[in-house]
Amino acid sequence: MTYQDPADDRRPPQRQPPPSEWYADAGLRFECTMCGDCCTGPPGVIAFTQNEGERIAKRLGISYQDFLHRYTHDTPEGRSLNEVRTAHGHDCVFLDRTSPHARSLRDGRGGAVCSLYEDRPLQCRTFPWWPDNLRTPRDWARTARACEGVNRGAFVPVEHIRIQRNQQSQRERSGDNVPSSDPTP
Ligand code: SF4
Ligand code: SF4
Repeated sequence: MTYQDPADDRRPPQRQPPPSEWYADAGLRFECTMCGDCCTGPPGVIAFTQNEGERIAKRLGISYQDFLHRYTHDTPEGRSLNEVRTAHGHDCVFLDRTSPHARSLRDGRGGAVCSLYEDRPLQCRTFPWWPDNLRTPRDWARTARACEGVNRGAFVPVEHIRIQRNQQSQRERSGDNVPSSDPTP
């Protein structure tokens, strides 16, 4: 769930929220299949706030500074969780494809789970309800090409979508994510 290249659907958008909720009547269908595609792909930015980083560090049983050193890096758009190159792309370093649980997913074909799940950053929590993904039906269709859970399963009510979308929008505008320590990473 990261963002630099406009072609990378994991990256959070920089534009403003949509002027109208074209999906307001019925909501939108979404059901995560745990394929892991939103946590891999081209290199990107998995942004986090200091509070989020501190929670992750506590979960890992290490100091915040140690967490920054071992699991994050500078990007032109701020500090990001690290990624590792796999056959799938640039996986988030916290993506689990190998545990028995992950291997059992998707009818035994194997899936992927977030090993930080309860402490994952907001941008991960709010996907796919990012403002840029919701702007128009065309944007939603683009999101569907990157996420097989889109347009699948039950309709998610607009009230839920709105909360997630607005949280992500607020985060994008807030400047609360940890910045790069090196201005020329
Ligand atoms: S279905 Fe979508 S949200 Fe779920 S893991 Fe796959 S890409 Fe991510
Ligand atoms: S923190 Fe978890 S949900 Fe977010 S990109 Fe990494 S593995 Fe995916």
